[in-house]
Amino acid sequence: MEFTHLLHPSPTPPETRNEALANPGFGSVFSDHMVEIDYDADKGGWFAAKVGPRQPITLDPAAAVLHYAQEIFEGMKAYQQKDGGIALFRPEENARRFNASADRMAMPRLPEELFLESIRRLVAMDRDWFPIVEGGSLYLRPFMFASEAFLGVRPAKRYKYMLIASPAGNYFKSGAPAVKIWVSRDYVRAAPGGTGAAKTGGNYAASLVPQAEAIEQGCDQVVFLDAVEKKWIEELGGMNLFFVMDDGSVITPPLTGTILPGITRDSLIQLLREEGLTIREEPYSIDQWRDDAGSGKLLETLACGTAAVVTPVGTVAGLDGEFTIGGGGPGQLTSKLHEKLVGIQRGSVEDTHGWVMRLE
Ligand SMILES: *Cc1c(COP(=O)(O)O)cnc(C)c1O
Repeated sequence: MEFTHLLHPSPTPPETRNEALANPGFGSVFSDHMVEIDYDADKGGWFAAKVGPRQPITLDPAAAVLHYAQEIFEGMKAYQQKDGGIALFRPEENARRFNASADRMAMPRLPEELFLESIRRLVAMDRDWFPIVEGGSLYLRPFMFASEAFLGVRPAKRYKYMLIASPAGNYFKSGAPAVKIWVSRDYVRAAPGGTGAAKTGGNYAASLVPQAEAIEQGCDQVVFLDAVEKKWIEELGGMNLFFVMDDGSVITPPLTGTILPGITRDSLIQLLREEGLTIREEPYSIDQWRDDAGSGKLLETLACGTAAVVTPVGTVAGLDGEFTIGGGGPGQLTSKLHEKLVGIQRGSVEDTHGWVMRLE
């Protein structure tokens, strides 16, 4: 597909940009351009691909996304390499998962090559938006929503795919401090047969009240239990979990359809196997978690995802009190995995898996 290119008529002045790039934080600074591709079932599919100035979009007030939340997204990063070049980490997996989410939300698939091409073009256009801070990256947010003006309940006929970029600092400033998480008993994130495995906004909307409860309880994040027995650990609002045991095995909840299949999760499973550890994709209960933390059978718990990479879980709190894992700080394996994964992403550790896609 041909892309139309239009440069921003009044791009951010270099001084303002450099100021933002010195302390970008997460998710509130945006680059100058964006990608837009339209879809119309009556016009034969995808058309009018363009990279242009980042600006507000017009949307009919009856646009289906505003009423029935037909929407999906992805989250990935472009990393500046040691040699100054730029690379993506397993972007084909994001393209594939985007389409898996589209399938679940009754939305059209975006050809994987078009997804990747949109990323190449935006990164090239906004090459000057890489943070100048250690651990920084250009966070990429591809998303798609139903734009058809129609209040009936059925899959829409018209959609918009968009891609925006946001320079991001290190998620956690000095290394990775251990987080404290809250066990939600009143709320679930996803139920069997629901949309838990799709990266769709509704899952996040459902997590906001329990997340606010977690903050109220002095915690950083919420951990969700399964919707049926309220017993099995699923994941955090936006991160998968791993439990490191003292017998050389590592447990992570299985992908049963209620958990988001994280690309970081998949990468860690491969790295852990190469470390000689046994990965058990098995249900793990909240009671077992507490018991194993108490007895010392559980050495470490870590949360993982693109935004924060690998983060140690130090303390778990719930209605029936709290418990601490290991020493309450980052464990050995957690730190090692963090270093290794970040090293691969930034080109300082050899990429033996073909995970890194160089853009330049
Ligand atoms: C995106 C996401 C993750 C992490 O996936 P990665 O591909 O590792 O970034 C985990 N859980 C949820 C609910 C998510 O939306």
